[in-house]
Amino acid sequence: MEMTHGDLPREELISQGRAILDWIATYLEHPERYPVLSTVKPGDIRASLPAAPPGTGETLETILQDFETKILPGITHWNHPAFFGYFATSSSIPGILAEMLIAALDVKAMLWKTSPAATELEEVATDWLRQMLGLRDGWFGITTDTASISSMLALAAARESRPELEIRERGMAGRTDLPRLRVYASKHVHSSVDKAALALGIGLENVVKIADDDQFRMRPDALAAAVAADRAQGYLPLACVATVGTTSTSSIDPVPAIAEICRRENLWLHVDGAYGGTLAVVPEFRYVLDGVEGADSLVVNPHKWLFTPFDCSAFFIKRPEVLKRAFSLVPEYLVTREQHEVVNYMDYGVQLGRRFRALKLWMVIRAFGADGLAERLRQHCALAKEFAGWVESSGDWELMAPVPFALVCFRYAPNGMSDTERDRRNEQIMHAVNDGGEVFLSHTKLHDRFTLRLSVGNIRTEKKHLALAWEKLQEAARVSS
Ligand SMILES: *Cc1c(COP(=O)(O)O)cnc(C)c1O
Repeated sequence: MEMTHGDLPREELISQGRAILDWIATYLEHPERYPVLSTVKPGDIRASLPAAPPGTGETLETILQDFETKILPGITHWNHPAFFGYFATSSSIPGILAEMLIAALDVKAMLWKTSPAATELEEVATDWLRQMLGLRDGWFGITTDTASISSMLALAAARESRPELEIRERGMAGRTDLPRLRVYASKHVHSSVDKAALALGIGLENVVKIADDDQFRMRPDALAAAVAADRAQGYLPLACVATVGTTSTSSIDPVPAIAEICRRENLWLHVDGAYGGTLAVVPEFRYVLDGVEGADSLVVNPHKWLFTPFDCSAFFIKRPEVLKRAFSLVPEYLVTREQHEVVNYMDYGVQLGRRFRALKLWMVIRAFGADGLAERLRQHCALAKEFAGWVESSGDWELMAPVPFALVCFRYAPNGMSDTERDRRNEQIMHAVNDGGEVFLSHTKLHDRFTLRLSVGNIRTEKKHLALAWEKLQEAARVSS
């Protein structure tokens, strides 16, 4: 029997590729055809699929039919314009097309040599982003998969900025000469910072949560006090993470005052602007990154609020040589002739093979332009403000936090209703609205009270989607009991 070799025929790419493009075009036009939140039960999708792989190849046509009938029901539609949960995100046409090219090229952007354009475009695209954010010259940009990894790299660099600890060579376990390393962050810091401490062997106990003020911002005086108390214990204050746009409420830690303390105390300052940092592309909102020039590193996520398909996080660092010292390890088979003249991005992290993310960031920035991106983010902030206005001017609802970006924290709180009862009602309202399938929002707890969150960030969200959310919320509140 003759074996078949090679890829599928070109005709399949053309015909099925066209079908997929058509599908995507219709999908992006009407994601509302689908319930925003998937309604399947745990195990449904798995049960609908064969447990064993097919022995012989199947046609793309059949596979795509199954995609429609079996996979799509289990999709929660992040690209749906009424997805207001967590932080709303979306991809965009230039980003989607870029992903096709990225898959076609299948580059591993690890060494300059393994695709000079991938490396140099990463330098260019991250530098464009730096300029759009209003940052000074001298930041080195790297794309990573997520802010979680970017923040882990930041803490790894912070640790390597103390070479006298010899952690790179000797590790941390079994040593009596190492003090506890301490990392400071507000109590609203993203859990990825705790996870970075887990991964790096710093330990959860050593992520010190600093008290916040009445607007959910880290208190610099409490930070200074925590550092002093730790020094008195013989601990080593290593780093501080300030957040621009916290996950619960999008509050902004006072970076200038924190930077001043970090400078004085010799702490590495990492700014987590995964959500909020991108708003600095809007000139009148540039102040959200005030003080960041006093930081050592910064993360912003183009895959969160800059219409770049997941994944694309942008990590900026002032002293890339420290990160390189933490991670560079060049086995003989990866030695290249030009390694001292070029950037080899594999030197700046854990991964060897790296996705060619720069292409999509570059295509997104070019297709919309700095002004076009700014205009869209400005619009999202205006929409969120408008929604916040509806909440404020209705008698029965209240805002639970300021709205510095495009996230509204609010709850149903009619007069005379106890807080416990309000908690119960708001949870009920959220589930009722989400079960309706037309709108999705998520929640948090503020001052220990159940709080609804509505985040605007999808490129296709319009006022009518917010009006629909408001209508559904009021309806659910009316029938709640
Ligand atoms: C979303 C978010 C993260 C995590 O982002 P990933 O890219 O999914 O890891 C971290 N920090 C903040 C403030 C965020 O909003």
